[in-house]
Amino acid sequence: MTDKARKPPTQPTPPAEAIERWDDEGGAMGYVFAHSICFGCKQPFAYNPMKVPSIRVDGVREPICQTCVDRINPERIKKGLPPIVPAADAYEPCDESELDG
Ligand SMILES: [Zn+2]
Repeated sequence: MTDKARKPPTQPTPPAEAIERWDDEGGAMGYVFAHSICFGCKQPFAYNPMKVPSIRVDGVREPICQTCVDRINPERIKKGLPPIVPAADAYEPCDESELDG
């Protein structure tokens, strides 16, 4: 029988222990934090690669930091564009399971 193969994949839940390790040591297996230079202000910042807001430059998505989002939004509103609203966890580490699929 192939019952097992037809079940959807289950999302692994990180144990509470792992979350505490993150708080204490600033890093734990299973969490992913991307670091790069903000396209807007050229400052290094850390973000959740799946949630971070970005702007498109020559077809390439360039992540931007919270400071730049706050700076750009009044300009966007003036031009009649919707403001960028980052996800609540856009600048938080994400579980590595979110990266798959
Ligand atoms: Zn910036």
